[in-house]
Amino acid sequence: MKINYNKSEVFTIGISEVDSERIADAFNCKLGHFPMKYLGLPISYKRLSKEELSSSAGKVEKRLEVWKCNQLSHGGRSILINSSLTSIPMYTMGFYWLHEGTQKRLDTTRGRFFWEGVGNKKKYHMIKWETLAVPKEFGGIGFVDTRAMNKALLAKWIYKLDRGDNTLALEVLRKKYLGNNSFCQSKQKCTSQFWQGLEKAKEWYERGIKWKLGNGRKIRFWHDVWLGECSLKIRYPRLFRICRQQDWSVADLREVEWDLDLRRRLGIEEVAEWNELQEALDLVEFSEEVDDVVIWALEPSGNFSAKSLYRFMKTSGEVDIRMTNLWKMKLPLKIKIFLWMLWHDRVQTGEQLKIRKGKGSERCKYCGKLETRSHLFFNLTSLKLSGCGLELV
Ligand SMILES: [Zn+2]
Repeated sequence: MKINYNKSEVFTIGISEVDSERIADAFNCKLGHFPMKYLGLPISYKRLSKEELSSSAGKVEKRLEVWKCNQLSHGGRSILINSSLTSIPMYTMGFYWLHEGTQKRLDTTRGRFFWEGVGNKKKYHMIKWETLAVPKEFGGIGFVDTRAMNKALLAKWIYKLDRGDNTLALEVLRKKYLGNNSFCQSKQKCTSQFWQGLEKAKEWYERGIKWKLGNGRKIRFWHDVWLGECSLKIRYPRLFRICRQQDWSVADLREVEWDLDLRRRLGIEEVAEWNELQEALDLVEFSEEVDDVVIWALEPSGNFSAKSLYRFMKTSGEVDIRMTNLWKMKLPLKIKIFLWMLWHDRVQTGEQLKIRKGKGSERCKYCGKLETRSHLFFNLTSLKLSGCGLELV
């Protein structure tokens, strides 16, 4: 293999411009400037600016510029959004937390493409992007919510750090920030941009893990799930509130033989909690030689997947059976999307267009009544045909 010096660049850190030029000349290369691109990611020794990190949003916009797909239906466009536009920023999102501005740009670009296609003609956005980005079984169209996905992808790093994977990068991070602690135990300040991204994902990561007890050093006694199916602070909230050792590890508390340092004497209810807790603790078995093991509780296998965390984050209320059935139907996607919009009463009827300050009349061209959804089609709640829909049939 030969080095192509024309395509190579020399990067220097911590030396003067003159010296840098001299070194570049010696290699017969150009002098590169940070941030450099490595496997498509911007990398720099200093903090990346918002602009430097927004390149993925720019890429999505550029991709649209070359597409010639004005004739596509909503179905076709939704497939392109899922398969192409949304996947462009994924790789970057696996490393960096994208700024709100970039997230907004991603939403706007995808939303505009869904409703307007690629032309310059303005069209009505009948449903806001936040609703489109709800999973199908909870009533949305299932476009990826990049804020949630960003966190889910970053959480993978925390899981790898806690699980004790020994790749070089993880070892360096562990030595620098964690020592022997778990991610949630560490209280580092002034961390790198990458690490601050992980902090954003921490809250959701915590909800997805439980611990298998080894020596108890990495487990927080009150906050982590390690004894039973929920954390002890949830199970014994009264004790937790008056305990002075709220951030202690299981190992620390065991060393003092579970002697909780409480702020005041116990009331009757607290005594009950205390007795129950003591009974549970009597059954705890330690494995002194073994580290605590993190388990991903959202997957039956116990292994982390960003998909499971994303689904967990996007679970909202009860599953909408009717919508779930709609998406399962063997119909062309564009028909399903149309029915979905009809269900949400967001088809471009005269009534809806008037709400959006559309020009034309809100009256039915055929009979002069107000052109509503049920007038044009049928009454969805009773599934009876009604209005002009019936007469036209
Ligand atoms: Zn009519």
